[in-house]
Formats: sequence, C-alpha cells, structure tokens
Amino acid sequence: MNVAVTQAETLATDWARVFFAGKSVLVTGGTSGIGAAIASGFVSSGASVVATGATLAEVERAQSEPGHAGIVFHELDVRDGEAVTDLIGSFERLDVLVNCAGIIRRGHELDPDIFASVVDINLNGTMRTCSAARALLAKSGQGAIVNTASMLSFQGGGLVPAYSASKGGIVQLTKSLAIAYADDNIRVNAVAPGWIATPLTEALQADPERSEAILSRTPMKRWGQPQDIVGGVLFLASPAAAFVTGAILPIDGGYLTT
Ligand code: NAD
Repeated sequence: MNVAVTQAETLATDWARVFFAGKSVLVTGGTSGIGAAIASGFVSSGASVVATGATLAEVERAQSEPGHAGIVFHELDVRDGEAVTDLIGSFERLDVLVNCAGIIRRGHELDPDIFASVVDINLNGTMRTCSAARALLAKSGQGAIVNTASMLSFQGGGLVPAYSASKGGIVQLTKSLAIAYADDNIRVNAVAPGWIATPLTEALQADPERSEAILSRTPMKRWGQPQDIVGGVLFLASPAAAFVTGAILPIDGGYLTT
C-alpha cells in the first residue's frame, strides 16, 4: 500500500483512540472495500464495531479475512426495514452510525426497475438505518452519523443515473437530517470519496480509457485506497468535529478541484 495511505490511517486511529475507546459503532456495507476499512479503523481506535454485509456469503468471506480481526459481522439487507429495526434494536448502545452500503449497476440503470432498486439500497437504505438508530444515538449524547456520498453526488452519470441520483440524494438527506436531528445532539455528515479501488469500481479500473480519464483529472494522480477514507470518517464522527454538521467532505485526491 502507498506509504502516505498507511501513515494517514495510523495517525488517524492513534489520535482517535482518545474518543472512541469503549464506544459502539455500526458500519453498514462493512464487509468489503471502504466500509471494511472504516470498520477496521474504528477497531484500531478502540471501539466495539459491528459491520454488516448484504449476504451471508459476504459476511463469511469478511470474517475469514485476517485484517478484519475484532469486527463483529452481521448479515443485513438495508432494503429490509424490519431487519434494520431488529438489528439496531439489538444494540445496547450506539454512538456512531456509518452508512456505507451501496451498489452500482453501470450500464443498466436506465431501466426503471433497476433504477428503483439502486435508489432503494443507496438512499432509502440510508434513511432506514438513520431512522432506526436515532433513539440510540440520541441516548449516546454525542451521537454521530457519517453517510457516504460520491463524486456522482455532484456530477451526472449517463451510465449510472440511479447511482448519481441516489448519491445526490445522500447530500440533501445528510443536510436535512443534520437539521432534523440537531435537537438530539446527533451530528449528520457525509464523506464524498473520489475514485477508490474497491470491488465496486473494478469495471472502471479495468477500462484503460476510463481509468486514464480519472487519473488525469485527479491532481494526486492515483486511485484512492479504502484506507484513504478512514481519517475523514473518524474526524467527522468524533467530538473534534463537535460543531460540524450537514457537511460533505470530499476525499478525492483533488478530483473536484479540476
Ligand atoms: P463494495 O462493493 O466493496 O462494498 C459494498 C458494500 O455494500 C458491501 O459490504 C455490500 O455487502 C454492501 N451492500 C450491497 N448491497 C447491499 C444491501 N442491499 N444491503 C446492505 N448492504 C449492501 O463497494 P465500496 O466501493 O466499498 O462502496 C462502499 C460505499 O462507498 C458505497 O456507498 C459506494 O457507493 C461508496 N462510494 C464508493 C466509491 C468508490 O470509488 N469505490 C466512491 C464513492 C462512493
């Protein structure tokens, strides 16, 4: 892994231990990619972490990976409101909710049914977990939600209209819940990752033309790694960001500046 990425992650988790030791964290979409890196980052910061994946197979695969020691994995399909309520209802306390569950169906999202299913996971799924977690986060006294936006929160995507619409929606949902939950002292923010090397972007990484277009627009001239996102999430979830709510933090190697 890039030295700067490892150093950033180590620094962030060292620093975050002051806040997260003994805290309870839930990361949806935490069996893979960005969510798994975030879950590991919270474990390294001393938190108790539950991370979820859409299927039992994903949960079992994640459990067997050595880098995931200390994370408790559960199956959770965020389309299933009852399952969301049951899982979150089983927590005794919850201090941080990170919504990372997401899919993309590149090239198929002009089909209205596929459009609806992508939005149901990426946007409605986030609303379901936020709503189910609100009471516990309020009880925490310093509750925090970190949602996952995208570069496609800001740009259209001709091959990914559902993904783009859902991620645009995440920005407005984040701002709206920041207002709605402020009385409960729950802060609601989002990270907007740039182009990160995960299973979700495998097709793009394998497409030399698209990959080159992405790299040439990214001032830092590399694909991001899942670990690049960890420091920003820990910051937004921590009391160091006590007056930060409704913010969307791009973590993109400068992509949005060009
Ligand atoms: P990934 O494919 O590695 O991980 C996706 C996760 O979402 C997995 O844990 C999977 O189990 C879960 N998931 C999928 N469908 C689900 C469902 N119905 N219910 C519950 N969980 C479900 O992808 P990733 O790149 O790590 O993506 C994580 C998040 O980051 C997504 O919200 C994605 O949109 C966002 N994101 C990714 C990038 C990128 O470049 N990789 C950029 C911006 C935003």
